[in-house]
Amino acid sequence: MNTRNYAGAGTIRSMTHAAPVTDRFPLEDVDKCVQCGLCLPYCPTYRETGDENESPRGRIALLRAMIRNELPLTPRLESHLDRCLSCRNCETACPAQVPYGRLIDDGRAFIAAKRREPRGRRVLRRWTVDGILARPNRLLWVGHLLRGYQRSGLQTIVRGSGLLRPLGLATIEAQLPIVPILKHYAIAYPVNGETRGDVALFLGCIARIVDQPTIDAAIRILNKLGYRVRIPRGQNCCGAIHQHAGDVQGARRLMAQNLNAFPSSGDMPVISLASGCGAMLLEYGQHVSTRDATEFAMRVHDFGAFIEDRHAAPFENALTHLGKIAVHEPCSLRNVMQTAKKTYNLLNRLSATEVSIISNQSTCCGAAGTYFLTQPQLSEVFRDDTLRTIHESGCDTLVTSNIGCALHLAAGIASRHLDVEVVHPAILIDRALRLDS
Ligand code: SF4
Ligand code: SF4
Repeated sequence: MNTRNYAGAGTIRSMTHAAPVTDRFPLEDVDKCVQCGLCLPYCPTYRETGDENESPRGRIALLRAMIRNELPLTPRLESHLDRCLSCRNCETACPAQVPYGRLIDDGRAFIAAKRREPRGRRVLRRWTVDGILARPNRLLWVGHLLRGYQRSGLQTIVRGSGLLRPLGLATIEAQLPIVPILKHYAIAYPVNGETRGDVALFLGCIARIVDQPTIDAAIRILNKLGYRVRIPRGQNCCGAIHQHAGDVQGARRLMAQNLNAFPSSGDMPVISLASGCGAMLLEYGQHVSTRDATEFAMRVHDFGAFIEDRHAAPFENALTHLGKIAVHEPCSLRNVMQTAKKTYNLLNRLSATEVSIISNQSTCCGAAGTYFLTQPQLSEVFRDDTLRTIHESGCDTLVTSNIGCALHLAAGIASRHLDVEVVHPAILIDRALRLDS
């Protein structure tokens, strides 16, 4: 039996509160926890609050009690689970290999299935997450509107009006980068010369609007290295936002669309530019137990790791003109894709200048998907810690492989008037090779 195969909100909601629902939750994963507490020092929310309920061990105990109907589903219990960053630092310290990321996702799905979401929130979520994020064409139109908003002077007027805060839009508006002229991508970008093979590029949802320069740079670099870049039509949001919010059906819908869009046969690598998306794609086989999903997941690579693995020599000493560089490790790259060191090695190997890793890598920058919106106070605390280490590093450029972290940190850097540019590794390599000139 697939223990994570939620039958849907209707089925679970129709159960009485006292009905046994344990067969719908992987209790065997919960029971792997031997309560040793070795994970506690690795947990940012525990370190910040000192509260056991805000630790991995505490949350696992809460999940177990909730599933067994030993604890009622109260706002306080939900809050302890909601305040988890899903950073998965705890997994890296756990000797019993408790799959904490899966557990917290399943716990949120369990809660979502039992809870009657207020109508207004449901409509807003459907309109934004399903109606826009999950529809690339609509997302592109939103991008055009945002560009018009920024260039027409309306942004200055709206910011000055003080309306954004009462509408709850101040945080997300502040993180909006300058939207470039948006374009549709071709289905393939051929190589000018000898071809080493084909790769399929995953564009993501937000990134294809606010980070087209990174996508363009990645295509140029891959072409330069001999790879024909394919951009499969019909690809969509990876589903991570849905999955981590407990919307299992929404996540599955998006996973199915992506599995249909990408060629299912052969071994063509799938390159992801944002590690938040890459981490989700890499685990498609765990979320949907089909052969297609498993084979697809095995072909997923983070862009930086793909370049580091396959190309040792061509760029040596190319970064001399780019100043001091610091590398930020997104949790998704470090704990799930487990290739953070490769980005560092790549930049270090390419550079004749100083490349450092910022020091507080065992924590999270506070972006964490939609965490910066749902838990703004804690998110701010974690961002402040990260900004302090960025400032102390004295870097001119901060390199990060996840668009969510990049936007969150760039907004914090701007608000503190620090002179640090935040870029994806692809942008740095592109500049080093002067491919964009
Ligand atoms: S380290 Fe693993 S087994 Fe130990 S308390 Fe944490 S989750 Fe449980
Ligand atoms: S995922 Fe992160 S925030 Fe959540 S319990 Fe684990 S270490 Fe703590």
